[in-house]
Amino acid sequence: MRIGIIGGGQLGRMLAWAGLPLGMEFSFIDPSPGAPAGQLGHLIVAPFEDRAAMFDLAQNVDVVTYEFENVPTPLLREVAAARPVMPAPEVLEASQDRVAEKSLFQALGIPATRHAALDREEELDFALDQTGLPAILKTRRFGYDGRGQVPIFERDEANAAFRSLADAPGGLILESRVRFEREISIVSCRDRTGSVVFYPPGENTHQDGILRSSRAPVRDQSLVHQAEDYARRILEHFDYVGVLAVEFFVVEGALIANEMAPRVHNSGHWSIEACATSQFENHLRALAGLPLGSTRMRGEALLVNAVGRLPSASATLALPDVHLHDYRKAPRSGRKVGHVTALAETRDELETLAPGLFELVPFER
Ligand code: AMP
Repeated sequence: MRIGIIGGGQLGRMLAWAGLPLGMEFSFIDPSPGAPAGQLGHLIVAPFEDRAAMFDLAQNVDVVTYEFENVPTPLLREVAAARPVMPAPEVLEASQDRVAEKSLFQALGIPATRHAALDREEELDFALDQTGLPAILKTRRFGYDGRGQVPIFERDEANAAFRSLADAPGGLILESRVRFEREISIVSCRDRTGSVVFYPPGENTHQDGILRSSRAPVRDQSLVHQAEDYARRILEHFDYVGVLAVEFFVVEGALIANEMAPRVHNSGHWSIEACATSQFENHLRALAGLPLGSTRMRGEALLVNAVGRLPSASATLALPDVHLHDYRKAPRSGRKVGHVTALAETRDELETLAPGLFELVPFER
């Protein structure tokens, strides 16, 4: 089975890492000649808008998937006419635009944050009336890792916030700032026959809008059921094939969806060591028409992202059952360059280890 992956970042790298034992071959398209996935397959160096390069990728594989979300969907639809693209381009279309994404959530009965779309500064007052304060102004498209987001606490900050983002292509969205108790996410996977598996949800922390840590499993069964129910609605709506992640805010024991990602997700990286089958392997199994594997956990897991710089390998690996992932990316502030996953038999053991791990793993913004 030949898998074509749009994007050659760490997600592509970890997908290939999971698929090589199954005899799969990988090709990637990425604008960077040093893309992290390049070591594990054939890398086509080209921008994602390059039609000829995209068809070159598609024509030499059996199935196309993506690990990067800002792919032009009209081009992806063209590719889908030539080769199966999974998940389908319409899923990506919904996830690329925060307004479309929230409309989808609402249409499926999934609670979402109060929000208003806006293109012009004169619309700010109306939008603020919809959301109240505090609020967060975001770009509708192309935001990641907290980029393209400005908090607004007082009405008189709104115009400056608008002007700082006004040039963003695709317009803006104003959202109420949710006073959440926790953030959780669920990684799910659906195969070609409609079978679905769920990973235990993880509880996530963010720093400056960047995922810093994920702890799993979340034990609150009511939250687990809500998360599974909402993810299943999205999977079934799209007749989805592959991995889907959904991020939620927890408010008074109920979930409010923040966003979804139609791909393997950072908050599921602990599944590599902590689960019988990782999110990466299950994504590939789904694409290849193979049975999905068990998501059973073999312990308590804590993932900590290395942002800006990697931790010392010798210090990290001196800890028992702690695993280091180096994405082979040049260090740069604000950039995810690797992660560490710690496993323990009990939550208490994990929490004893946690402070040392956070100290060890850099976060440089
Ligand atoms: P996002 O790019 O939308 O996932 O935002 C990154 C992080 O910023 C989230 O995981 C939250 O920690 C925070 N955030 C984003 N939107 C909101 C919101 N409407 N209310 C509160 N926190 C938010």
